[in-house]
Amino acid sequence: MNQEEPVKSLNFIEAMIEEDIRSKKHSGSLQFRFPPEPNGYLHIGHAKAICLSFGLAAKYKGLCNLRFDDTNPIKEEVEYVEAIKDNIQWLGFTWDKECYTSDYFEQLYDWAILLIKKGKAYVDDSSADEIASWRGTPTQPGQESPCRNRPVEESLDLLGRMKNGEFPDGSKVVRAKIDMASPNMHMRDPIMYRIKHAHHHRTANEWCIYPMYDYAHGQSDYIENVTHSLCTLEFEVHRPLYDWFLDNIIDDEKVNRERTRQTEFARLNLNYTVMSKRMLLQLVEEGHVEGWDDPRMPTISGLRRRGYTPASIRNFADKVGIAKRENVIDVSLLEHCVREDLNKIAQRVMGVLDPLKITIANYPDGQVEELEAINNPEDERMGTRRVPFSKTIYIERADFMENPPKKYFRLSPGAEVRLRYAYYITCTEVVKDASGTITELICTYDTATRGGDSPDGRKVKGTLHWVSAEKALKARVNLYDRLFSLEDPYSCAEGETFLSNLNPNSLEQVEAFVEPFLAEGQPFDHYQFERLGYFCLDKNSTPGNLVVNRTVTLRDSWAKQAEK
Ligand code: ATP
Ligand code: MG
Repeated sequence: MNQEEPVKSLNFIEAMIEEDIRSKKHSGSLQFRFPPEPNGYLHIGHAKAICLSFGLAAKYKGLCNLRFDDTNPIKEEVEYVEAIKDNIQWLGFTWDKECYTSDYFEQLYDWAILLIKKGKAYVDDSSADEIASWRGTPTQPGQESPCRNRPVEESLDLLGRMKNGEFPDGSKVVRAKIDMASPNMHMRDPIMYRIKHAHHHRTANEWCIYPMYDYAHGQSDYIENVTHSLCTLEFEVHRPLYDWFLDNIIDDEKVNRERTRQTEFARLNLNYTVMSKRMLLQLVEEGHVEGWDDPRMPTISGLRRRGYTPASIRNFADKVGIAKRENVIDVSLLEHCVREDLNKIAQRVMGVLDPLKITIANYPDGQVEELEAINNPEDERMGTRRVPFSKTIYIERADFMENPPKKYFRLSPGAEVRLRYAYYITCTEVVKDASGTITELICTYDTATRGGDSPDGRKVKGTLHWVSAEKALKARVNLYDRLFSLEDPYSCAEGETFLSNLNPNSLEQVEAFVEPFLAEGQPFDHYQFERLGYFCLDKNSTPGNLVVNRTVTLRDSWAKQAEK
């Protein structure tokens, strides 16, 4: 092993897998799956689960399926299926098989018949309210349904008629016959099937009974030969049920292979955002954001449109790690990861968000020079480009002060600064309008400092970014900030919802000037606007109508606020 590479310790799942490999379990071939329900877009929490299962498959030369857990036709849509596939590919992963739980409906139905025949399941005519009221509490046993001991033949007949559409929604369910006194509420005769006369995005109107997650999941894993079924901690209490179904359906002796195993890990929680699909859907439907891919959303599509890179998200998932205990991750870690990646790959450009005009009095009228600028000081291979310089330029309003304090190294009357890649300039006059607002600065430049250095060794401390007023392009810039102003958006006063914690300033739009180079860019291209932050072209940006999204500032401005 290379001595310089730090040895990363194994997380508990890797340790388990390596033990399985050592003991030659699963004949050494590993199968994983990522099982999203297509009822919304994927978020950064899903990215953690994706990186885990696909990452383990890659590391241990196994395979990972993408399985759509499409058992609830009312909330599921093809648009979500497509977005999920797109997102996973964009993150850099390739699935082995594209699977759908709905492909197993027939098999699951046959297994339900098997369970009924074994006396392990029954059709219950009780209403949802009755079933709920008989469930008991964690400390008190539940009550058996009057249908629990109905004859097998009767249940079989009713199941067939449920499938044939003879009964209305909610009038009957199929339940597993387990133990109404189990201390685990999930084992108290859980529902396996419910009636829903609804159109399904794949099976259309073929079915009007749909399996529940708990009944479908383990068996789907089994059908796909999944060896390690990884999910988040809330499913830990479902595991006995996962095993119960397989114990009662699969004859292990006959199939002669290791049983699939469910293992739980802590979900990702991130501050300043929400990650429940229900809430994300509400933000979209009520128009609090522009859509699922609004750059303020924690969705993968949103992060992408914001300017996040696949590598930055994978790296983030890696840094967060896999553990058994839940915690909340600071969003600044995510921001750190994207800065780190963009610093390496982002094209540098100059853009001015809040322009102040400068006229260079001694610069020839009508002259335009093309000055050489470095595309990325971190990566020589990215080369150089030409930036036009002319008599009128814009600088950032915040880079000038009429009455500067000591140690102010930017521009002020009489002071000399460097214009990045261009010249030294000195401010000779401040022009104001009737209300006293500065409208323009008059400067002079030193021709000998072309490129940004003085041959006489004269030093200036301030270097400003700028654009040529004659050549710059207008761009609409979206300055995004956190979507919620509270670390924990779920906490709110009585009578209020998480919506009351929305950050009213999560989007500021400005008209900016950018160097003409941006007209060559494509949607989603990344840039560092020198001294300002990382930006990307929006998906709707065109050369004639530039729209730029701020991914993140160069430094963490929230950390500074917290220090104050
Ligand atoms: P909801 O937000 O409605 O609870 P969900 O996020 O559980 O839905 P699924 O489509 O069922 O949505 O999730 C697919 C997989 O992603 C599951 O295995 C789930 O455990 C995992 N997952 C979901 N949220 C997170 C999270 N925050 N961190 C890590 N994994 C997650
Ligand atoms: Mg779920």
